[in-house]
Amino acid sequence: MTRSASDYNAFTMALKAMIRRRRRAPETVLASQGSDQWPWESTDIDYDMHVIREVIGKYLSSFDVKQDYFASFFSLVVPHNMRNHYCPECLREDITAIEFPYWRKAWTYCMTAYCYQHKRLLVTMRSGPSTYDRAWQAFKEEAFDSPSNAFRVMRDRLAIRVQRWYFGRPSFNTLGLENTQSTRALFDLTYSLLLKRRTRFEEGGYACALARENRGQVTPKSMPLTERIQTGVSISSPLQRAYALILTGMILGLILPSQISSFVGLAKQSGVPWPSTPFVIGKMAILYSNREEYLELRKLYSATPPDLIAQCAEFFRGLEHAVYSLRDEYSSQDRLWLESGTPHQRWLVFPDL
Ligand SMILES: [Zn+2]
Repeated sequence: MTRSASDYNAFTMALKAMIRRRRRAPETVLASQGSDQWPWESTDIDYDMHVIREVIGKYLSSFDVKQDYFASFFSLVVPHNMRNHYCPECLREDITAIEFPYWRKAWTYCMTAYCYQHKRLLVTMRSGPSTYDRAWQAFKEEAFDSPSNAFRVMRDRLAIRVQRWYFGRPSFNTLGLENTQSTRALFDLTYSLLLKRRTRFEEGGYACALARENRGQVTPKSMPLTERIQTGVSISSPLQRAYALILTGMILGLILPSQISSFVGLAKQSGVPWPSTPFVIGKMAILYSNREEYLELRKLYSATPPDLIAQCAEFFRGLEHAVYSLRDEYSSQDRLWLESGTPHQRWLVFPDL
């Protein structure tokens, strides 16, 4: 892919701003990972690595900048043309500090709903996402926050906790669930399932339904479940993500039962029918419309280790509950399968149906 001269200039300008701000090699910043400042503070630059390699060779090597600096740290990154969530306070602070607002890498992950620095929900740009001047575009837009109340305060507190767990931020109480590759994989899938895309023919994710924010995201054509799960997470809004973070946190046991019950109470007062158990979340996460969908979901979850399935048994029982709606489609072999073992045990092996 070739880049025009103006693209290249925008890129070098962003780099200059970054270097001016740091006034020291990023390598020394990397050493102080204990703080919440990194990598959340690094700039989102989505250029092809060919250009980056060239710039590093010609210019940045004297600052000891290595290629790794530009790499993403997590797999679920929103495509470049859809990166439109930001923190208005960060941009305002940039103007005062460096006279140049810049887009954070931290805002580009599918699991990011909050700015850690300002402990606030991100805002969505109203103008379409542009490429090089999006930080300026966003800066000039006025961001409206909904008035705070006890429900929103607790919502933010719980969701930030789960977001911190996911990204392995320091000083988080894991409540016994270690952040490993397999727990993160289970998180990715469940979180994305709760944000699955709504079409004219199929329901959207449970988090979207609770957030009552589905408008503008409904696709007119039918889509396979896997595709709805994969695309929904990219187009999700910060509020939908906040809800999905809390729901996933409940399923994985990252939120204390006492906190769940006070949150459910506050939600009720705010008119949000928040579920109180992982079983209900499982039941609502998917309402199978056909047997293929059930098998598709089973396949997606089939890589989950047995101990994690057992730990989240209530959620899997909920997912299994919805299978009764397929009663008419069962064969006698299906019936035998469905009567064997407890519901979550059936998720330990992929069915031979
Ligand atoms: Zn911020």
